[in-house]
Amino acid sequence: MIDTPKKKNIFGYTLSELSESITPKFRAQQIYKWLYIEYKIDFESMSNLPKHLREELSQKYSAQNLEILKCEQSRDGSKKYLFRTHDGHTFESVLIQMRDKQRDANGKIVSSEKWTICLSSQIGCKVGCAFCFTAKGGFYRNLEAGEIVEQVVQIKRDNAIPPHKRVNIVYMGMGEPLDNFENVTKAIRILSEKDGLSISARRQTISTSGIAPRIKKLGMLDLGVQLAISLHAVDDTLRSRLIPMNKAYNIAQVLDEVRDFPVDARKRVMFEYLMIKDLNDSLKEAKKLLSLLDGIRAKVNLILFNPHEGSEFLRPSEERAKAFADFLTQKGLLCTIRESKGLDISAACGQLREKEKLQHVSYET
Ligand code: SAH
Ligand code: SF4
Repeated sequence: MIDTPKKKNIFGYTLSELSESITPKFRAQQIYKWLYIEYKIDFESMSNLPKHLREELSQKYSAQNLEILKCEQSRDGSKKYLFRTHDGHTFESVLIQMRDKQRDANGKIVSSEKWTICLSSQIGCKVGCAFCFTAKGGFYRNLEAGEIVEQVVQIKRDNAIPPHKRVNIVYMGMGEPLDNFENVTKAIRILSEKDGLSISARRQTISTSGIAPRIKKLGMLDLGVQLAISLHAVDDTLRSRLIPMNKAYNIAQVLDEVRDFPVDARKRVMFEYLMIKDLNDSLKEAKKLLSLLDGIRAKVNLILFNPHEGSEFLRPSEERAKAFADFLTQKGLLCTIRESKGLDISAACGQLREKEKLQHVSYET
């Protein structure tokens, strides 16, 4: 059961914030270890803390603020989680597991596992993209920093992922991360704490539909976080139809901010391009995309539209996507086609929640 909402979410504190309220300071480091390395949720079991501190922590904080309502496992190994918050909202996160080839100490190729966790940043979304299932449900509230961090902790615990295994984070679940700027940037910091989960900002990617001034603000923080832009169209007319916010911040404005964004010398900005049948999937668009991204250290990730009930768009063929990708690659622009991980488990963002909502309307407050 989730703990009472009156208690504070312990996952919402950076190490220095926690050290300010707990004396002596090294106790905060010990608590961090119990939470993020041992995955403990009950303060009573934190055996190297004095009894009075354990009691104080139990009264003041909670390490279980989200409840796993549902978990769907896909045949390809990815898992979709539906969480419920203390105030009865639901949202989802996905664990994507990939086989990765790595070399052992003798140079022999061995297969290893690579995990990526796709996090939600809001309950619903205000941006209202025409193709997105999340948009249909409207907007309820921002997720707190602690709720963002707790998704990672709960998923790591539920899958017994060893604490020091490499995990990448993508903010590509429900919501627009840059519309919840303070909480998302705080979560990035907490996730990267060396004494905690130690997921460096370089392994965290923010995907945004293009709130230009917030891209600037994020760049100025210089956290080292990776940037992904949901571009989806090469002309403003179509982009405004797909992403209404394009009327406020058009393609040129978004690209200007991307040019100024601090990108690690070995990294590139990712441009997500949602391919919709007969709308933006021809070589004419591929050519335009190439010229738009000229001069930007970019890579393109093609996403085949994932149809959902009531959607007006169609999914293009794989051949069409391959031709688009081949064209860009031949011209020297790095391009990949997103693997449809978990297509059999309500893959598109927001779909699991919508399914659940239709069945149990009472989950929403
Ligand atoms: N709000 C942010 C991040 C969450 S959406 C953004 O828009 O970038 C994450 C990705 O899922 C976006 O690239 C979005 O375009 C994509 N997406 C949304 N609905 C989709 C659908 N029906 N099929 C395929 N991808 C979809
Ligand atoms: Fe929001 Fe992203 Fe969905 Fe657009 S695609 S409505 S920005 S979650």
